[in-house]
Amino acid sequence: MAGFLLIRYRHLQRKSNETSDVANVILKNLVKRFNAVTAVDKLSLEIHDREFAVLVGSSGCGKTTVLRMIAGLEPITSGEIFIGDTLVNDMDPKDRDIAMVFQNYALYPHMNVRDNMGFGLKIRKFSKEEIDARVQEAADILGIHDLLERKPKELSGGQRQRVALGRAIVRKPKVFLFDEPLSNLDAKLRVAMRAEISKLHRRLGATIIYVTHDQVEAMTMADRIFIMHKGGLQQTGMPMEVYAKPANRFVAGFIGSPAMNFIEATLVREADAWFIDAGDFRVRAPAAFNARLEPHAGRQVIFGVRPEDIAAHVSAAGAGGGNTVTARADVVETLGPEILVYLTCGPHSIVALMESPERELTEGQTLEVDMKMVKTHIFDKETSQTIV
Ligand code: ATP
Repeated sequence: MAGFLLIRYRHLQRKSNETSDVANVILKNLVKRFNAVTAVDKLSLEIHDREFAVLVGSSGCGKTTVLRMIAGLEPITSGEIFIGDTLVNDMDPKDRDIAMVFQNYALYPHMNVRDNMGFGLKIRKFSKEEIDARVQEAADILGIHDLLERKPKELSGGQRQRVALGRAIVRKPKVFLFDEPLSNLDAKLRVAMRAEISKLHRRLGATIIYVTHDQVEAMTMADRIFIMHKGGLQQTGMPMEVYAKPANRFVAGFIGSPAMNFIEATLVREADAWFIDAGDFRVRAPAAFNARLEPHAGRQVIFGVRPEDIAAHVSAAGAGGGNTVTARADVVETLGPEILVYLTCGPHSIVALMESPERELTEGQTLEVDMKMVKTHIFDKETSQTIV
């Protein structure tokens, strides 16, 4: 059944695309100014045909403005937008072959689900038979048959979200635009809908541009993540690429939860060995880092270590030495299979995420902290760019 629906969807999708079937989206030097505010600053990127692209960044970085410009809902200040290789700068929103799913769902309260889903097709003068067939098909895909006659106020948040998706699906657009679609749902439902939208993407084989401030959504759903900051692009890559090889300190701190620890330090070279000297502790850098560290001898840097790359155990008498750091456990939070330990070492605060140990750690204990040094990062303190 699912296979049949997919073939039928693709068939209808092809019929509905009068130009090419390719649904890539290209932004070239895109700028948007609101008076004195530059919301989007010379943004260039390419989203591939059928890709699930997630634009992620903190509040106010310009994500929604980008999406609205792609949809044609916001005039651009300068630059170019291509959808499926067609320059759409001056194209009316209704001719862009895109469908947008908004954060607040924007359902019509006086219409039932069936009419809400079909309304966009009705104003585009589709026949009643075609509208019925498409609503039916979308209801099959989303499993919402029994909701078709209900009004939005008779639906739960998750059900409304599905109807909003259905309204986009019936359009069979080249590109779906999602603006924080899960932010009104509770935590449990968000996790469930995340998986549903990922499945939907695979099933529809459509291009999706998804905007969120939530790096967990970005990591779990994206084919590629586009990390934005202050209207510009910081880094693009597959989720594990940006996690393992952040281009700079901003990306390193934004991707990953709990966030990476950052510690001010000096790079010290002694014969063939390199040390990260943070004053209250000193650790040796792996030999694999040497070549990259060479131009930075004696310089101030930021040492970055992820909480999940830290292990800590109770300090035995006379311990220390090796490549460990002696620190105090200030707070221990039990998450079940894992614990979060908030450590201090002199002026430095370090968060560790570890498997729950057999012998409980308690607050106030002195611990020996081991870092997986090959997984650590070093950033230029002045430029914030990644050295290693
Ligand atoms: P959020 O996650 O909070 O929605 P965002 O990354 O989507 O943020 P935008 O809504 O795109 O950010 O806003 C980018 C910048 O442009 C912000 O500084 C915002 O205040 C400004 N801005 C957005 N819309 C307007 C507008 N209509 N008039 C003036 N300034 C605006």
